[in-house]
Amino acid sequence: MSDHQSRLSAGGTRAGALRVLLLEPDSAAAVSLANLLQVASGKPITIEHASTLEAGLALLHEHAPDAVITELELPDSSGNATLAQLVAADPHLPIVVLADSDDDRFALELLKHGAQDYLIKGRSDAALVLKTLRYAIERKESDQHLTFLSHYDRLTGLANRELFRDRLHQAMTRAERSKQLVALMFIDLDRFKAVNDTLGHLAGDELLIEVAERLKGAVRRSDTIARLGGDEFTVILEGLGATADAEAVCRKILKALARPVLIQNHEIYVTGSIGVTFFPLDDTDLNGLLRNADAAMYRAKEEGRNKYHLFTADLNTRALDRMAIETALRHAIDRDELHLCYQPKICVRTGAILGAEALLRWNHPQRGAVSPVDFIPIAEESGLIVPIGEWVLRRACADLRKWQAAGFEQINVAVNLSARQFRHGELVKVVTQVLEETGIAPHQLELEITESLLMDDTEASQLALQDLKALGTGIYLDDFGTGYSSLAYLKKFPLDGLKIDRSFIRDLPGDADGEAITRAILALSHALRLTVVAEGVETAAQLAFLGAADCEVAQGYFFSRPLPFREFLSWLQRSPAADPAA
Ligand code: C2E
Ligand code: MG
Ligand code: MG
Repeated sequence: MSDHQSRLSAGGTRAGALRVLLLEPDSAAAVSLANLLQVASGKPITIEHASTLEAGLALLHEHAPDAVITELELPDSSGNATLAQLVAADPHLPIVVLADSDDDRFALELLKHGAQDYLIKGRSDAALVLKTLRYAIERKESDQHLTFLSHYDRLTGLANRELFRDRLHQAMTRAERSKQLVALMFIDLDRFKAVNDTLGHLAGDELLIEVAERLKGAVRRSDTIARLGGDEFTVILEGLGATADAEAVCRKILKALARPVLIQNHEIYVTGSIGVTFFPLDDTDLNGLLRNADAAMYRAKEEGRNKYHLFTADLNTRALDRMAIETALRHAIDRDELHLCYQPKICVRTGAILGAEALLRWNHPQRGAVSPVDFIPIAEESGLIVPIGEWVLRRACADLRKWQAAGFEQINVAVNLSARQFRHGELVKVVTQVLEETGIAPHQLELEITESLLMDDTEASQLALQDLKALGTGIYLDDFGTGYSSLAYLKKFPLDGLKIDRSFIRDLPGDADGEAITRAILALSHALRLTVVAEGVETAAQLAFLGAADCEVAQGYFFSRPLPFREFLSWLQRSPAADPAA
């Protein structure tokens, strides 16, 4: 051991012993903290001590401790750099900081830079030190469990969209170096919707699981298969010398899919349509590749399904379709084709109606009802989301005003916002204006944002968030669990709460992953004093589980489908929980 390292206790390294690394330049302080820990723990505890970061990192590699307690100011490192180096050395290591003061901003800074908790120097007794340590370890574990779960599709166990994008990016980087090709495939099942509609969701799920297995059988273990949602699968093939290699895999996949599947005693025949594009031949940009594969897949479908199609530059049919939608969408507001539906949010404990989420609907003259899932992305890409979003805000607040006039004074309204609206720069002004015009109090407006907004570190977005918070509107993170889902992110932003994505609620109760992730999200949120809304609650059993797990708010078909303005008002009037006299 060098001058800078020592072992301060003799608990041995038996299994079960808590192993702590202590980074503290002041040896006397180190010894006294170590003594505190010994006393509190009662169990064997091993404390490795180092007085410099360099010595500490060496111990870290040698002993793989359960947690580190560290000063930020060390002889060879200072402030957040100390945290950054520890996180880089071992991203799994729970970190507790020895701090001089406990002001809130400072604590936030620590969390943001990867610490789990902190102790105030000279003000910590034995029990507190131990509790803080245990808490930090637990927090780190549930945070990582969450990150893990949120990278996999829980139905099939395949990679999900986030992980898929990561893997594609990595594959592109590797291919650049090795001068090889990457093939990206989009696979869509041809008759999936029919199966779902006639045999039900469970049959649909079974089919998706079987398809995942068959895809696994058709590619190498090292290739990535992902499910992006619904019946959309993707495959990334690496290390290809020629495009023909990918075509061989396409034929293999089509053959595997074409075999009948036996579900609930029905022989089901599904086929797939595959679109393929190559890096770097067709595009060198990740989003460009995704668009190519999508366009090629559509062409394969048009060619009569059960086909694969390689992307070619003239494949613009899909783009044309998008353009047609975009053009029609430009006129949608003027032509009065947009309207809002409302879905109630219910207090899990009391059953009271807390408010309603506004969900946009587009009634296209030729296409009929177009789902927001299909047109919001186009509205975002084209920038049309800015005027449309403003229309939604204004309409939702005006509608709320009318419910209030009808006697429902306590309820609030939630509006979904896209990241693009934040970047535009006028958002705060528009919200302020709409609140003034409609006479709605800021706290009666809840804004639902997405994680992509939080990841988007542009200054305009960050400032707008702060300003909205200052204005007093509620801010909720939507679809939580499907993105990066990191604790550090949650703590970094002025959120009031988050909405657990409905994909996690779907299999409750009974599904181990779903239960674990819901509990983990609830535990994290409550530690951070965030309100949790469960989306997509469809059954009494789901509601009971959520109640027992202390979830505050629920929303879903179990209470009501999204309803047009008038129908929502009659729903309110019929509902005992919303009696205006109550
Ligand atoms: P979201 O904000 O997560 O909205 C919840 C979605 O879940 C809605 O779909 C709703 O109809 C659906 N849902 C509610 N309860 C249940 C249930 O019990 N089971 C199931 N399976 N689904 C349920 P919808 O209306 O199709 O909206 C989809 C997405 O479109 C929204 O997801 C939101 O991200 C986006 N969106 C809708 N309106 C707007 C808007 O005005 N602006 C923006 N930027 N996005 C919007
Ligand atoms: Mg929402
Ligand atoms: Mg949602």
